Amino acid sequence: MSTSGNRSLKIVIIGPPGSGKGTQARLLAARLGVPHISVGALLRAEIVAGSPLGERVDGAVAAGELVADADIATVLREALQSAAARDGWILDGAPRTEAQAAALAPLLESHDSHAALVIALEAPEEELRSRLLDRARVEDRVDDTPSVISHRLVVWAEESRPILARYEERGMLVRVDGTGDVEAIAARVLDAVDAAFAPRERDRRAGA
Ligand code: ADP
Repeated sequence: MSTSGNRSLKIVIIGPPGSGKGTQARLLAARLGVPHISVGALLRAEIVAGSPLGERVDGAVAAGELVADADIATVLREALQSAAARDGWILDGAPRTEAQAAALAPLLESHDSHAALVIALEAPEEELRSRLLDRARVEDRVDDTPSVISHRLVVWAEESRPILARYEERGMLVRVDGTGDVEAIAARVLDAVDAAFAPRERDRRAGA
């Protein structure tokens, strides 16, 4: 596959709670051989570790509110600067606000805008809700209760979905159908990555 030869893939997977962005980001990262950076997982690890940052964000995460942009910036800075992430990464969980998108922009757009892609995973709201309720039976997340799930969906619609327009305008956005089984979605995600990067990779090899 052409994409595996590109050493600086920067891919953001964005989507509402329950869209499966964590699962798909993990699968894609393994497939492409680049690190998977999950903001939600990093925040939960800080909370479990009881770090000062973890203590600061604990209440917001439990209530389904967004964590302060400054704390997200701290977590992202550390994760994206690690040696492993230098040559590319799959990011899930950020940006969720216009401020976060602005902070990430230099990383996504600096030397080669063609090296970055934003994948938006889409699924109907009822499907999102039922997936999150199903997950609550197997995973122990304090924010997978019916009322917090509803709130997270509202927060997504009001604060995060609008930033998709920014990527759409720049031609960086690909929308992927997030319904069906995990493997079928993974295949669509991989097709989207191939379609976005293959022509560019050809140009690069041709010295363009
Ligand atoms: P989901 O997308 O299903 O809500 P995540 O694991 O991505 O799951 O996020 C869980 C919680 O962590 C969010 O509800 C929010 O409180 C916090 N969080 C994660 N990413 C961000 C972010 N980029 N900005 C602010 N808060 C965030």
